Amino acid sequence: MPAATPVSNTDSPRWQRELAEAVRDPAELLALLDLDPALLPAARAAAAQFPLRVPRGFVARMRPGDPHDPLLRQVLPLYEELRTADGFVADPVGDLQAMAGHGVLHKYHGRVLLVATGACAVHCRYCFRRHFPYAEANAAAGQWEAALRYIGSRPEISEVILSGGDPLVLNDRRLSELAHALADIPHLRRLRIHSRLPIVLPSRVDERLLDWLAGTRLSPVLVVHANHPHELDAEVADAAARLRARGVTLLNQTVLLAGVNDDPEVLIALSERLFECGIQPYYLHALDRVQGAGHFQADAELPALMQALRARLPGYLVPRPVREEPGQPAKTPLPY
Ligand SMILES: *Cc1c(COP(=O)(O)O)cnc(C)c1O
Ligand code: SF4
Repeated sequence: MPAATPVSNTDSPRWQRELAEAVRDPAELLALLDLDPALLPAARAAAAQFPLRVPRGFVARMRPGDPHDPLLRQVLPLYEELRTADGFVADPVGDLQAMAGHGVLHKYHGRVLLVATGACAVHCRYCFRRHFPYAEANAAAGQWEAALRYIGSRPEISEVILSGGDPLVLNDRRLSELAHALADIPHLRRLRIHSRLPIVLPSRVDERLLDWLAGTRLSPVLVVHANHPHELDAEVADAAARLRARGVTLLNQTVLLAGVNDDPEVLIALSERLFECGIQPYYLHALDRVQGAGHFQADAELPALMQALRARLPGYLVPRPVREEPGQPAKTPLPY
């Protein structure tokens, strides 16, 4: 007779199992990549402030034995994070000030951003939300109702952006309910999702997701977040193709990161690869000055990088360089 087995979760979608199996232990990440265990104390110290989290499929795109791998650098906790840097603060974009209540951020005309959840599939070390008090600022906790009331009472809003954290870590039942409730608000036109899951966990793009995302009267827009061409493997390309086949507009935002993509060849290859995948480059963000991310700063290189991109790429493959500044009515375009 077989031993008692734990409750099977084979009914849950593949992406949920992959999410649950993400690497969280710095020692395991180093072992998977044949990296020097001497990196471990630093990784543990920095992970105590903002935990390590990375899906195994993303680790598989890293080069074993290379501590400078551009994908690894985005997720490996380092001692540098524990240093303070001048001007690097906990809430660099003023989100706490702009929060209208129940997870709605209404900073820009016609668009509201809904903080749908605090969770993410990957923990990006440079993230401006690493210090964000999600437990207090989370529309999901309030069952969406207050957020829907806010949006419904403001006819000037035409687009809702689901953000977080990463909204696609929520299950499809909840997201489908939300999408349909939003579609019932007559003045809304577009439903936009800001998510890194189609990049770091492309199995998230399954039929259930496509059904609610493309299944309302709202025009679906998905803004993904990739920083390096190695992130866009065949599985990501396949997920993007399935989204496009259902009429989802795909855009990408990139953060300029020292040691990851502060190199014209990398940014050019990223734009070329995005286009191959049917994803349009959208923003190139100057790093938000968040405490613990000072070592990713590469702003001084932006003018030369933009010049190289403009000289080498068609205009439609050049991302717009921007910075987010508290209190401004839009992302601030950078004059390079
Ligand atoms: C970035 C952002 C948006 C979207 O800006 P777009 O320029 O439309 O991409 C909307 N609301 C908030 C609060 C944002 O930070
Ligand atoms: S996925 Fe986005 S919100 Fe989540 S840690 Fe990375 S950059 Fe931050």
